[in-house]
Formats: sequence, structure tokens, C-alpha cells
Amino acid sequence: MGRVINEASDKEYYQAFCFALREEIMINWLATMQTFAKQNTRMLYYLSMEYLPGRFTGNNITNIGATDIVRKVMRHMGRDFDRVLSSEPDPGLGNGGLGRLASCFLDSLATQQYPAVGYGLRYQYGIFEQELWDGIQLERPDPWLLDEYPWEFRRDQRSYNVKFCGRPIRTANTHSDEVYDIEDCEEVRALAYDIPIIGYDCTPDFSVLTMRLWTTKESPRNFGLQRYNAGHLDQAAENIILTDVLYPNDNHETGKRIRLKQEFLLVSASLQDIMRRHLIQNPDMSNFKEKIRIQSNDTHPALVVVELMRILTKDYDFSWNQAWETTQACTSYTNHTILAEALEEWNVHRLSYILPRQYNIIERINLKFCNKIRKQYPNDEDRVRRMTIINDGQIKMANLSIVATHCINGVSALHTELLQKTTFKDFAEMYPTKFTNVTNGVTPRRWLLHCNPRLSQFISERIGDQWITNFDQIDQLQKFASDPDSQREFLKIKRQNKEALRRYLLENYQEHDFKGKLIKVKIDLHLDALFDCHIKRIHEYKRQLLSALHLIMLYFEIVDNPQETTRIQRTFIYAGKAAPGYHIAKNIIRLINCIARTINNDPDVKEKLQVVFIPNYNVSKAEFIMPAAELSEQISTAGLEASGTGNMKFSMNGALTIGTDDGANVEMRKTVGDQWWPFLFGASVQEIEQMQTNQSYNAWDIYSKYPHIRRAVDSLRDRTFSKYDAEHQALTELYHSLLESSPGRLPDPYFILQDLIDYYETQKKVEELYKIPEKWAEYAIHNIAGMGQFSSDNSIHKYAREIWDITPCAVNKELLEHIRSEFRAHDQCRIIGHH
Ligand SMILES: *Cc1c(COP(=O)(O)O)cnc(C)c1O
Repeated sequence: MGRVINEASDKEYYQAFCFALREEIMINWLATMQTFAKQNTRMLYYLSMEYLPGRFTGNNITNIGATDIVRKVMRHMGRDFDRVLSSEPDPGLGNGGLGRLASCFLDSLATQQYPAVGYGLRYQYGIFEQELWDGIQLERPDPWLLDEYPWEFRRDQRSYNVKFCGRPIRTANTHSDEVYDIEDCEEVRALAYDIPIIGYDCTPDFSVLTMRLWTTKESPRNFGLQRYNAGHLDQAAENIILTDVLYPNDNHETGKRIRLKQEFLLVSASLQDIMRRHLIQNPDMSNFKEKIRIQSNDTHPALVVVELMRILTKDYDFSWNQAWETTQACTSYTNHTILAEALEEWNVHRLSYILPRQYNIIERINLKFCNKIRKQYPNDEDRVRRMTIINDGQIKMANLSIVATHCINGVSALHTELLQKTTFKDFAEMYPTKFTNVTNGVTPRRWLLHCNPRLSQFISERIGDQWITNFDQIDQLQKFASDPDSQREFLKIKRQNKEALRRYLLENYQEHDFKGKLIKVKIDLHLDALFDCHIKRIHEYKRQLLSALHLIMLYFEIVDNPQETTRIQRTFIYAGKAAPGYHIAKNIIRLINCIARTINNDPDVKEKLQVVFIPNYNVSKAEFIMPAAELSEQISTAGLEASGTGNMKFSMNGALTIGTDDGANVEMRKTVGDQWWPFLFGASVQEIEQMQTNQSYNAWDIYSKYPHIRRAVDSLRDRTFSKYDAEHQALTELYHSLLESSPGRLPDPYFILQDLIDYYETQKKVEELYKIPEKWAEYAIHNIAGMGQFSSDNSIHKYAREIWDITPCAVNKELLEHIRSEFRAHDQCRIIGHH
């Protein structure tokens, strides 16, 4: 780094350390890739527009079992381990659950030694950084690449041309299938940056996989000089800035032009790379379908099926039918949501302008598909209209994916069932074997071993350390749930983790006034209070408004009866970003901060209740909050959260869940056992469905019937919590969203008031249990012990077995030894002072 040790700042020290570590990791990385090439195994290529890996350095050290030695060396050199590691930026290349899932999957693929590569985009700016200005979300760019990022490797040899727009010229292949040349198109150069993904293994033989991220930033050829000369600077630069920014929408699609270009860039560059690699190890494309599996993380990379059809028929002279068979065999698709506003659709004009050849192929796929429907279901044009890929000028990407891939999976048992029974009912009827479930999981390395070393040691002392890579073993913890020593020890650890979060916030919490000036607020968490955590993206279906209304009810109870002493202390911890254009979600953030201001400054209340909104929720924040959490809020409207993964992280860290029977909560309840899952509440999917079909839900009735609910809802517009007119306006809008309809929207569409009564009563049960700490600990240990199924290793094994048909492929020891000895020899070679 060009610095001696006592000159180096923590950041420089961190960079130097990473460079030293990555040199050693490269040995295993090379050996892993050579092993896959040599064995010519079937490979899995995971395509995802988003990854949320979190900081790499600490996790890498954990995964090679080097934490103790590194800590020791840093101490010896007078450096603080945690401070050095927190110099690393947290790459926010995703929005939330979907991106985090992709990263958990890469960790599991590497740890379980599967032959795989993850492809994505190297956004110059990841998800925005959230600041709170007088309680309002403000978005700032996330410049994670400001300093050189030591975990990425620029691969100048790996770059590809991606073509947009232009005029297609119709020709034919030798099978007389229509194929297209292209004239006058834009060509964009996509350049690869690789990040090593290190599998957990305490021996020196660990596997390292590649996460390959494409950028358009680094090629001068991407600049449109002719357009610039014509005076259109914005158009001239468009292809340079293509990978600049992540779209900050979670569970919501907007159909923007640049987004379509981003999605196709990922597809085209990755496919070219996959084919290049295939042709190095195989003479031709005839065995492509034996060797390649491509998983599409949601429909964002759905064009992969179209582009594969195009390349096979055009460049490799496959007949349409051969190409179709290969495409289906090689590809599969994961659905992440049934929220209508999140299902991707592209306007026909937009897509055919940017991708004219691909549009022609989509039309042909659809023509054949509609004929197939007509043949199988004669005289059922209604069915054709429901199932067609192109309808009303829009291309439905989920429909395309289901038709063109061999497998579609949902992400929890409930979600998959709903896919088959509602959203894609017709498709499930036509292709019953294509649908399957793979419940999401999280990696116990980052989400337990790395972020909660105290609890990890507690577990290993009792059941050994096999759980780290074989999480099924965690069920052995059950027998310690009733053991008083284990309960006491668990409570002690939880308190230490709460204390760590308290210290972290005392040092790092930031709030701004309405002009953005940093204001000093001391957030001092109450260590005796129940840490009640609602942290995830802010979305109406996730119902932060439901927990906020409950909080308001508690506030009024204490205000009314300040002498009451039988209540437990509670600390409500919120965190989460709202999409910048999601007005109601931003109002919810504002409301929570208004409530926090009122409660934290009320002398009669502030000792009993505390409310904290932790700004800029990301993986690093989650790693701090999860180990300290005691109650996990998983309270989405039943049927709307596809799986959830935050729920699993909390449980693994010993929090109890207050939750609806939604997403993976249902399966978690079953494996933990109803007896140890005491805080289930709310309307079931069936009940919600029924209220929707017979339009029997009336939020106004509930509001009128229950005075304590009415008082809480009224407080949204009687200025109890708002100080200014603008705040009053924001909170009043929330009031209206609960009780009034607006165009295209019913009152309280997410059934918040419907579930509030049950939620309130269930929160009373929480308080009763929390009063008996040993009992609480017994429940918590049972919850940890029930998480065996929710390791992402488990999910990956299921994908590998049932969808990809791939098997683990350990690093070849000879190859590894060869690279090691070469490295050692070269490492000793010096030019200066050589004799
Ligand atoms: C796990 C995680 C999520 C997903 O949380 P849900 O509660 O499942 O929505 C989102 N963001 C981050 C940073 C996470 O770590």
C-alpha cells in the first residue's frame, strides 16, 4: 500500500490486510475453478439483478476459521479488529430479501462445494443511504466504490458486446427457421469484475466460488460520440451509465427503459460468458443441455430464455425445436411474489424498440404457446386471454418464464400453494409437474456464527460444532431448553448482545434536523426492556402501521395510568428503507418518528416505553440488531409475504416471533411446534380471501366498535403526535388510508384494523411471558432448535437435487497442492538482492 504500519490509517490497514488475505484465498479460488473445468461437471449459473452480500472481510475470516489468529495479530499490531473491519463499505447491490437470498445461496453453494457461478451487475451506486431529517427519509447516494474495493478483481479479458436497438434483418438457418441479423445497433461493452465467495471450511481445502458482476462504466467505446457531437450529451452517455444505479424498488416494478437495458445486459453478457466457458471444455454445443443449468432469480433475468433461443438458432444452427428443448432443460425460474404490482410486464413498443430480434422470438414463442392452449382446451378463448404472454400491448414476463423453463418454484409452502391455486392456476393445470416449492433459508455462518459469537459458543459447547455446516443438528439443542443453567446462560448472552447494541447506538446513532444539520441525540437503550424489533423494508403489506397503532395504544394506556407498575418495559426498534417514490411508506416512517419523539420526551412514559428508528437498515445493521432482539415482528397480511427471511435470522438468534400465519412463518411454527410458538395471531389466508370475495370487511365497523382502537386511529389526525402542518398532513393521509377509499383502493386494504384487536391481545401474552425470564428462555431455545430446516444449505440441497440435478464437487487436492507450491516458490523469488 506504500505506507509503513505506524503511518497507516485504519482504512489503509484494512485494505492492506484484505490484499494479504486475498492472495492466499486466490490459491483456493484458482484450484476450485480448475477443478470444475477439469471434471467438466454440470454447472449452475445463478442470475440475479440483486445481491446483498454484507461486508466480506469479517465473514471471510470466519469462513476459513481464522478469527482467533487474525484478532491476535491485530491486537499485537495495536489495531482494533472491529474498528478495522468496519472500515469496509457494505455493498448494497440489492433492495432487501431477494438480494439477501441470492447472497445466502452463494454462501451455501460455496460451503457445500457445488459447482456454480453467480452473475449480477456492479452498480456504481447501490441502494441509497437513508438519513432521517426531522423524521423524514432522505436518500443519499451510496458511493461504495469511492475507495478501491479490495474484494473485487477487474477481469479485462472478460468483456462482451451487448447489442441494443437497430434494425433486424430477417434470414434463415439451415432448418429454415427465421433468424435475424442486426444493423445499426448500439453496442455496449460489459466488463466483468469478480468477487470471491469463500465457503466455510476450517481446513485449508475450502472452496471458493465466483460472483461475477458486469459494468458498462469502464469502456470508452460505450460513449456515443456521434450523439455527443449532435449535442445530445444525455443520450451519448446513456450506455456508460447503464449500470450506475440500482433501482430502489422492493416488490414493485416500474417498467423503465434503463431498467430493461440493465436486465438484458445481465442476460446477454452472462450467456456469452457461459457459452465461452462451455466451448473451452466441450467441442460444440450438442451437450450444452447436459452441462448447463441457469436459475433466474425472479423474472428480472427472464429474457435469458429468449436470448438463449436466439443464439442457439442463429449462431449455432439449432432448429427451433432443438433450441426449445435445450432452453427448457437448462433454465428454471424462482417466483418471489404474487403482489400484482410486482409482476414484471414490458410494454411491447418499448421492448421491441430496444430488443427487436428478441421481441420477434417472444412473439413466436407466444404464437406456438397460444396454439397449444387452443389445442388442449378447444373453444376456451377466455383461457387463452388469461394465459397469453402478450396481452393488451404488455409482455408478461412470469408467463414467459413458466412456458419456457422446465421448473418454476415458490419460496415457501404457502406461497407455492397460492401460486398454483390463484395467480398461476391455469399454468399449474396445464403444466402440473413444472411447479415445486423450495422454502427460502439463511446462512447460519453469517447469521449466527459470525454475527453472534456468544450464542454460537453456547450452542457448540452443548451440541458440538457440526451445526455450522449441517444445521439439522441444531434440533439437539431442544434438550437444553428446560435446563436452568442453559436458560440462565442464554439470558446472560442476550443481555450482553443488548448491551453491545446499546453501545453501538450510543456511538453511531445519527439524526438530522429539517435542514440536514446533525443534531446530537443520545439514544440510550433500556437494557431491562423487551427489545421488540420490526426491521425490514417499509411496505404497506408488511404492516409497520399495525405495530405503530399498537404502540400508540400502549402510549395512551400509560398516559392514562402513569402510576401503574405491573407493566414490563418495552423498547421498540424499527429500521427499514422506503422506496423513494412510495409516498405512503414514507409517511409511515414519519409517523414512527413522530411517535418516537412524543414518547421519548414524555416524562411519564419514557421510562416504560422507548422507540428507536435506526436509520439506513442494511446487512451490517441487521448483524447488530438480530443478536440483541427478543421479539421479532413478522406481521404481514396473510398471503402477501412470499417467505420472509428476516423471520429466520431472528429465530436463529433466540428471538420469539409475534406473527401471522404467512410465508415461511407457517413452516417455522410447525417445526418449532405450536406449544413453543405462542404469539400467532391474525386472520388466516382463507379468512382474508373470504372477506375479499364477499366484500364483508369494513374497517369503519371496527373503528366504531372499539373505543381504544378509535382513539389510536383518531390520534393520527388530532395532532397528538404531529408538531407541524406538514406532519399533520402526512399522518392524516395515513388516517384516510385506513378508513376511506380512494381511486382503485378500498379502505384499509391490508386489513390492519381487522388484525389489530388480536395483535393487541397477543402482545399482552408477550408481556406475561416476558415477566418470567427462565420461561422466556425456554421458549427461545426451543425456537432456535426448531430452525434446522431454514438454513440456506437446506434450500440449496433441494434445488441441487430436484431442479438442477447437480452434485458437490470438492476441490481437487492435487491441483490445490500444485498451485500452492507454485505460489510458495514464486513468493520467495526476489529480483533485487537476487544472487
Ligand atoms: C434479511 C434481510 C431482509 C429481508 O427481511 P424480511 O424481514 O424477510 O423482509 C432485508 N434486508 C436486509 C438488509 C436483510 O438482512
